[in-house]
Amino acid sequence: MPLLVMKFGGTSVADLARIRNAAGKVADEVARGFDVIVIVSAMAGKTNELVRWVNDISPFYDAREYDAVVSSGENVTAGLMALTLQEMDIPARSWQGWQVPIVTTSQHGAARFVEIPREAIERKFAEGMKVAVVAGFQGVSAEGRITTLGRGGSDTTAVAFAAAFGAERCDIYTDVDGVYTTDPRISRKARKLDRIAYEEMLELASLGAKVLQTRSVELAMRYKVKVRVLSSFEPVTDTSGTIVCDEEDIVESKAVAGIAHSRDEAKMTLQGVADRPGIAAAIFGPLAEAGINVDMIVQNISDGGLTDMTFSCPTDQVPRAERALTEARARGDIAFGGLVADTEVAKVSVVGIGMRSHTGVAAAMFRALAAEGINIKVITTSEIKISVLIDRKYMELAVQALHDAFALDKAA
Ligand code: ASP
Ligand code: MG
Repeated sequence: MPLLVMKFGGTSVADLARIRNAAGKVADEVARGFDVIVIVSAMAGKTNELVRWVNDISPFYDAREYDAVVSSGENVTAGLMALTLQEMDIPARSWQGWQVPIVTTSQHGAARFVEIPREAIERKFAEGMKVAVVAGFQGVSAEGRITTLGRGGSDTTAVAFAAAFGAERCDIYTDVDGVYTTDPRISRKARKLDRIAYEEMLELASLGAKVLQTRSVELAMRYKVKVRVLSSFEPVTDTSGTIVCDEEDIVESKAVAGIAHSRDEAKMTLQGVADRPGIAAAIFGPLAEAGINVDMIVQNISDGGLTDMTFSCPTDQVPRAERALTEARARGDIAFGGLVADTEVAKVSVVGIGMRSHTGVAAAMFRALAAEGINIKVITTSEIKISVLIDRKYMELAVQALHDAFALDKAA
């Protein structure tokens, strides 16, 4: 039997009517001849509520008990989904992570897969079961404790199952009808993409297009799992959603596939640091230890042996970064003249695998921003991405201008 993995996010199983709606989509695939593994999230808002409860009772909680509580939302939807399918005369049963068993590392709250054995589920399929409903987001450690994969982790459960079972495809049902060239709330010209390459999706996901958990895209890329992102609130057709796939399976090739943005960025500059070997290590070592997610880094040309070092990080990490650097200075590990934080910046990036072969993307990007009078504060590039830091108040304008400049409203 061909096998399909279908994952339903929180809004797609937010209440009983929506669970019935989702079950209808599963029934359609069973009618098309598929065995199906359904991965469910908790009902919308449920996981947040459980996290709040844990924090309320125990601010410095035992992470093992956090996972025991927070994983429970998925148990409810898995059971309800199996029951709904049974009511539709479809042989189905639910599986909690430990029953499969989905074996993970024991990093509670951020566990990673170790193994997903197929035997138990395959045996049931052989006995006539048509749908295995698996609770997303959770697993069990070698110590036998319940673990969770980190917020948004049921996307990753879905892709991991598709890889482990060699599924035809992994369909991720959500509340948007696909991946867009940019955030449709910012540009009304945003266009749904038919296809996007893993690498592009990875950049867009990590740059704040929160459709898929980043880790799920990494897994899909590693195991070449074809992923389709689509809405559970619309009828499914052959052209529904966006396929995330290998770049070789993409025929249309534009230089730029999409524009990503990230609003809560801060730019920090250490002024007057010695320009000597080891200085970057001395600065970024303490920041890493303090858990600061440093993103862009620029070192200015030095003047009289002194230089400025600029980096960006999420706005809410600025106080912690300041403390880490001030403490490093007090210990005598680094010396600097001043520390300036600009917390009113945003990052805008253009992303596309076509950049590898098209030239002039950076020039076109900078021209478009210049035409709007937007000053660029920091620039970084990779093979398939160019990012700039700009004043936050121009973020929307920059996204719209770039979307126009690269004519992303039109297919290639
Ligand atoms: N329910 C979990 C969360 O809200 C996992 C998921 O939905 O992907 O993070
Ligand atoms: Mg999600």
